[in-house]
Amino acid sequence: APAETDYDVIVIGAGPGGYVCAIRAAQLGFKVACVEKRATLGGTCLNVGCIPSKALLQQSENFHAAKDEYGEMGIIIDSVKLDLAKMMARKQSVVDANVKGVEFLFKKNKVTWLKGVGKVEGTGRITVDGKPVTAKHIVIASGSDSAGLPGVDVDEKQIVTSTGALELSAVPKKMVVIGGGVIGLELGSVWHRLGADVTVIEYLDRLVPGTDNEIAKTFQRILTKQGLKMKLGHKVTRAEKSARGVTLTVEPAQGGTAETLEADVVLLAIGRTAASKGFGLEEAGIELDRRGRIVTDAHYATSVPGIYAIGDVIAGPMLAHKAEEEGVAVAELLAGQAGHVNYGAIPAVVYTWPEVATVGKTEENLKEEGVSYKVGKFPFTANGRARAIGMTDGFVKVLADSTTDQVLGVHIIGPMAGELIAECTMAIEFGASSEDIARTCHAHPTLSEAVKEAALDVDKRAIHI
Ligand code: FAD
Repeated sequence: APAETDYDVIVIGAGPGGYVCAIRAAQLGFKVACVEKRATLGGTCLNVGCIPSKALLQQSENFHAAKDEYGEMGIIIDSVKLDLAKMMARKQSVVDANVKGVEFLFKKNKVTWLKGVGKVEGTGRITVDGKPVTAKHIVIASGSDSAGLPGVDVDEKQIVTSTGALELSAVPKKMVVIGGGVIGLELGSVWHRLGADVTVIEYLDRLVPGTDNEIAKTFQRILTKQGLKMKLGHKVTRAEKSARGVTLTVEPAQGGTAETLEADVVLLAIGRTAASKGFGLEEAGIELDRRGRIVTDAHYATSVPGIYAIGDVIAGPMLAHKAEEEGVAVAELLAGQAGHVNYGAIPAVVYTWPEVATVGKTEENLKEEGVSYKVGKFPFTANGRARAIGMTDGFVKVLADSTTDQVLGVHIIGPMAGELIAECTMAIEFGASSEDIARTCHAHPTLSEAVKEAALDVDKRAIHI
């Protein structure tokens, strides 16, 4: 880096990885700037990802409950109507409040927002919209973009990515979702609840790859019962647009007879790719892997001295909280501290209803690794609170080491699973045994008692089953 620099740390990208890194670096006494080309801070997550999708999931769930479920509770609403424009406006106000919140945090922590496109020139040097800026350390947190599919041309109106699916102006009659992963199932659920006939096409013969098989099977059964149609083991080879809608050509994944499917709107949700092209990385000598992700060492250093990378643009799960943890870790490492992320204790949540939440190893992982384990399970049908709130679908599954009883993984499908997974993540982080969870007093009546009971069931001594 040049002897005199404009900043100590420059972060490129103000998503959860970048903005958290910038704030932590400022807390540690660095002079920090964060480059962001979007009109607002917060990245994919706050603008077109986690936050707007969760707002729409909540709102559509409330609509569905008012229309189809409140009657059972003795609440009679004569006519429930959808005001989609208002629903979208509320979603946008949630986004606006969040992105403004990050702007406030930048001011509070004296982080400078350099507005524009950052381009990496080399160690210590970048440009922002062509203007040179220097720093001792550069952290790339450029995130990811929706992956494309040959033969399927996105126009964000009839054929949309998650971004378009978060702002449709009318409820489609028929929607086809390409991809049975987290984003496809969440946004498919939103539009299904609002009245669309939704078909999910997935290449593999299962949903949410990587999730514990038993959980994935239950998940598929529950979503199907709700009315989402599933076409697993199939691939889309072509999408043709007309004034009427989109005609999709669909084939069995292993080859076979093609068929066609009609849709008003197609959501392409087959994954995301690292945003590593077009801003000087390769020219500066930064190594990328086969999938375009920036290669880093255990301390987030790239192949060019003084340049680091975190979040969706490097390997690992593409999750906001993973990016945030890396943001904190790299800032602390730059300050000479022992920043570290425990990749064995990163929860993952699908915010459908019921939710799916997992942390640690799946049964399949443990079998592959030859680890001997015990299983404890507890269904929400046997949990008092779940019955009271009328949400008894699903179960908790605790996997513990046969010899040491250490908790190796927890997998939950059920109400508020995303909140319940926090104590399980803490258990794994602290190296707890299933006995530790089982002996911890849990408030009654709460959904969290199902976690305790599943831990008790590891040694077959659950009380309520
Ligand atoms: P991003 O959030 O992608 O931010 C990168 C930022 O860098 C962008 O704002 C971009 O404009 C900027 N940038 C890139 N290049 C440049 C450049 N050269 N100059 C200036 N600026 C640049 N994750 C969860 O954990 N939970 C969820 O519920 C969840 N829901 C999701 C729902 C959807 C629909 C989507 C699409 C994603 C969801 N995710 C969720 C994933 C989550 O959004 C990402 O993992 C997270 O945003 C990654 O953070 P990041 O900081 O690495 O990158």
